[in-house]
Amino acid sequence: MSVSVTFLGTGGSVPSKYRALPSVLIRRGPELLLFDCGEGTQRQFLQARAGTNRKMRIFISHLHGDHLFGLPGMLHSLAFMGRTQELQIYGPRGIADFVSSVNRVVRFYSQYPLKVKEVRAGCIVNDKEYRVVAAQAKHGIPCLAYAFEEKPRPGKFNPAKAKKLEIPEGPLWKKLQTSPYVRVGSRRIPSHLVVGAPRQGVKITYSVDTRPCSAVVKLARGSDLLIHDSSFDRSAAQKAVDYGHSTSTEAAQVAVRCKARKLALFHISAMYEDANPLLIQARKTFRNTLLSQDMMTIYVSRNR
Ligand SMILES: [Zn+2]
Ligand SMILES: [Zn+2]
Repeated sequence: MSVSVTFLGTGGSVPSKYRALPSVLIRRGPELLLFDCGEGTQRQFLQARAGTNRKMRIFISHLHGDHLFGLPGMLHSLAFMGRTQELQIYGPRGIADFVSSVNRVVRFYSQYPLKVKEVRAGCIVNDKEYRVVAAQAKHGIPCLAYAFEEKPRPGKFNPAKAKKLEIPEGPLWKKLQTSPYVRVGSRRIPSHLVVGAPRQGVKITYSVDTRPCSAVVKLARGSDLLIHDSSFDRSAAQKAVDYGHSTSTEAAQVAVRCKARKLALFHISAMYEDANPLLIQARKTFRNTLLSQDMMTIYVSRNR
């Protein structure tokens, strides 16, 4: 199943002429996972042709307005566009109060079941084929980083080897892919003689509004793609400390520490009309870095 990431908004704190507020859409086959919902996300979401009635989960990192104020508009628009499927929202403590407060004053025309779950660090979604794990980032208020991680798939089955070992075709072939061994008469045949090593899935970590921290490094270990706060360039390093953010060099250092394959600089301050210096600085520490742009889509492969 293909996995892609579309950066719906890549700015931070306030929108700029070039960047909308933070929101990242992961598409896994027909399913959608939306991380943060800055103001105006609903329009970017439409432009991305994401589909309004798919299985969908929304994850909010923290309760600063730039990550959250798009949520009422998004919920409202989805209802208008005929959503009927359940929608699940996850976020830190206070997210349920935010949604119900807005709903109390401005009723959503909601025809779909809406569920809001307040979560903490740990595994928060354990689906059949993937999980989403949260960790506490280091910001002025409680802020969650999220890792989306596909579960390993069974290794490749080799029919020629199965035949050579005289394992009869049928249920035993299937069992080889799910059990450590099968029995054929008096023989006990280990599955690894026929089935390859489990195939690793894709891992994407979303970590915004944070100082570099070990909890995020641990969460993001081995990510195919790390999306990290990169609000400032090196010359504004003190601002990053003061406001609980990271420079692009610090984001690159996190990518090195967690052994990510690729880094996307994200949550770029509106003070940069040209953010290329952030990219140049980050690449000195971590070569495989890209500067996220609004509406940029990248495919994340599982070939490791
Ligand atoms: Zn922010
Ligand atoms: Zn914040």
